[in-house]
Amino acid sequence: MPGTKWVFVTGGVLSGLGKGLVSASVGRFLQARGYDVVPIKCDGYLNVDPGTMNPIEHGEVFVLDDGGEVDMDFGHYERFLGVQGKFCWNLTSGKIFQSVIENERSGEYLGKTVQMIPHVTDEIKDRLNRVAEEENADVVVVEIGGTVGDMENMIFLEASRQMRLDKPEEDTLLLHVTLIPWLKAVGEQKTKPTQHSVKELESLGLEADMIIGRAERNLEEKTKEKISLFCNVPKDHVVSNPDVDNVYKIPLKLMEDGMDKTVTEELDLEDKGKDMEEWRNLVENMENPDGEVDIAICGKYTRLEDSYVSIKQALKHCSAHLRCGVNYRFIETTEIERGEKSAEKILDGVDGVIIPGGFGGRGAEGKIEVAKYCRENDLPILGLCYGLQLMVVEFARNVCDLKEANSTEVDSGTPHPVIDLIPEQKDVEAKGGTMRLGGQETVIDKGTVAEDIYGKNEVKERFRHRYEINPKYHSDLEENGLKLSGRAKKENHIVQIIEIDDHPFYFGTQFHPEFTSTFEDPNPVFVEFVKSCTDA
Ligand code: GLN
Repeated sequence: MPGTKWVFVTGGVLSGLGKGLVSASVGRFLQARGYDVVPIKCDGYLNVDPGTMNPIEHGEVFVLDDGGEVDMDFGHYERFLGVQGKFCWNLTSGKIFQSVIENERSGEYLGKTVQMIPHVTDEIKDRLNRVAEEENADVVVVEIGGTVGDMENMIFLEASRQMRLDKPEEDTLLLHVTLIPWLKAVGEQKTKPTQHSVKELESLGLEADMIIGRAERNLEEKTKEKISLFCNVPKDHVVSNPDVDNVYKIPLKLMEDGMDKTVTEELDLEDKGKDMEEWRNLVENMENPDGEVDIAICGKYTRLEDSYVSIKQALKHCSAHLRCGVNYRFIETTEIERGEKSAEKILDGVDGVIIPGGFGGRGAEGKIEVAKYCRENDLPILGLCYGLQLMVVEFARNVCDLKEANSTEVDSGTPHPVIDLIPEQKDVEAKGGTMRLGGQETVIDKGTVAEDIYGKNEVKERFRHRYEINPKYHSDLEENGLKLSGRAKKENHIVQIIEIDDHPFYFGTQFHPEFTSTFEDPNPVFVEFVKSCTDA
């Protein structure tokens, strides 16, 4: 589409430098200058989407409103930009090759040898251009996953090179995010790894327009000079991206170093002024909290911080809006079920508990013990998806007296299958993209906590599950005091919210409210949960 500007973001030296956060930040300050920004992520792996990956392997699987299971960087994009991402904005090698091979089989390239260039690169470029066109985007930020030099992302880098050639010079920009280590022994920031990674980029025909230097501290003047000299960019195109204790400071930090000005100038965009005041105020609220709460996140993917990134961020959003420090700690529930630690001991000093989503039996009994402790001891508890399901199992066992009640996901032979497969899921065998996924409407009963929280009787939230509360047990649960306060609008048998009266906060959602919380517009379920923890 003529007029769309393209910002490509690549990574050098090593992974984990926060390219996603830089991409989201650039998008955010361009938005603040009045431009519509669309983020795209290219991932080199051969999975069609990350839905079949273990979160410990790859971090959280983020779920979009349209049901797409995508890379967790989309979480950053949505939280920073407040846009609703689409599945087609996440390109993976798996998706690209799948189409190319399907096209070949259907005879689309008849007579031709199908090759990486041009067929695979054309598929990538077509998809990128199509998104820009469909969204009528002013700016598309394309983050290329992985590190330059990896075999995995080569084809996306090649497609980016061609895109840069296809478009007028002032319509594209390449930001290279790289590591500038601090060498203690000589007391110096070292630029050599960056020089090498820029050379690697050049060998692929790509020239960096700006270097974003990840470092412990701001880049020193002489570091910037050296990078400018060796990496062939003007000195003001070298930007500091220092360690921060709060990711929402990143756009402000980059702006402090003039990055917003340089990016707009380079892309020949009119300077329409900028407004990041509200953002800045929220960051300041987090810096100056009035009180603090300690939250325990009780799950089984606790080995990798990134497994529960959206939950952590949703808590941070509450911190900014409630001006309250929110500390969280991870509790590995496998340790509770092995009897190594008791729920009581482990929850000592905690103001509230979240039982997050999950799959499979490991750690489930530990989560059930945690749920019991919270219910009996008036400790605020928020159960998300699998969390809700295990709260129901606990309630069935200990309040409804259905001993050995369980989810059939954990025990297929349980005498009381209070959680069971959704009927529509019973014949599903393939694993990729086949759960009940994406945004679905919930109808909320009048006079419930859920209604108070949302202030309305219909909400759309995002789902990712195969199991539900077994409708055969609804009346038993309700008669014993569990309120089934929200149901699916379309499939009325699916209970989507549970709560009990007479408890400071006992609330479970079959959906994932963490996926719709943004920095500027926090999800009300988390806000009310954190508020209840402050009173605990
Ligand atoms: N394993 C459960 C299900 O499939 C919960 C899934 C989840 O927590 N996302 O229903």
